[in-house]
Amino acid sequence: MTTIEKNLLTVRERIAAACIAAGREPGAVELLAVSKTFDAQAVTQACAAGQRAFGENYIQEAVQKIAELRQLPLVWHCIGPIQSNKTRLVAEHFDWVHTVERFKTAQRLSEQRPAQLAPLQVCIQVNVDGGASKSGVAPEEALALAQQVAALPNLRLRGVMSIPEPTPDFAAACTVFAKVKAVFDNLNANGLALDTLSMGMSADLEAAIQSGSTMVRVGTAIFGGRPKAAL
Ligand SMILES: *Cc1c(COP(=O)(O)O)cnc(C)c1O
Repeated sequence: MTTIEKNLLTVRERIAAACIAAGREPGAVELLAVSKTFDAQAVTQACAAGQRAFGENYIQEAVQKIAELRQLPLVWHCIGPIQSNKTRLVAEHFDWVHTVERFKTAQRLSEQRPAQLAPLQVCIQVNVDGGASKSGVAPEEALALAQQVAALPNLRLRGVMSIPEPTPDFAAACTVFAKVKAVFDNLNANGLALDTLSMGMSADLEAAIQSGSTMVRVGTAIFGGRPKAAL
């Protein structure tokens, strides 16, 4: 068994245990394997172990990997910041984008989505704990942005995503994740029919699942450590 296969088993067990602890169905949470900085061979190994959904932060790196692995039945999620000169690559190569925080970006993604592809699945990124410089819209701006994005023809709004700062313990993490869940619930209360709450990473997936996450984004616990410069 490869290390990646072993790690995937462990992560799936953590997810299942967290679902049970939270009184949720064991299948209620999808695992997104974050393969940024790791090569196509690592992704191939994870695929052989049954993993299909992969997350990437760096557009150029991702586009190469996606091309190299186009024979595999993979679903690619963009989870990094998107500069406006990169929207076309994202619209042409990814299946999902988690990091929509401006209407202008969403509009470009919709315009540039090739007609022969399914709509691009998107999440609104929300900033529940950071300063003004951090990515994501403020919670009170999420509804207005979500309503605008939902009206774009070639996007399909699926949910809300957040990357809270690391917290000292489980309870503190739950408090922050609850703010993201509140945004998600509020959008649904306003008729948006969202099914995806993207939150939780290697270190805090249990707290995220306790707080209602439906998709955890896990890198280190599957692929190992990354060079510091790459987050
Ligand atoms: C890198 C990254 C992850 C994965 O983080 P790990 O701590 O390695 O699990 C998840 N989400 C985003 C947005 C990331 O950039």
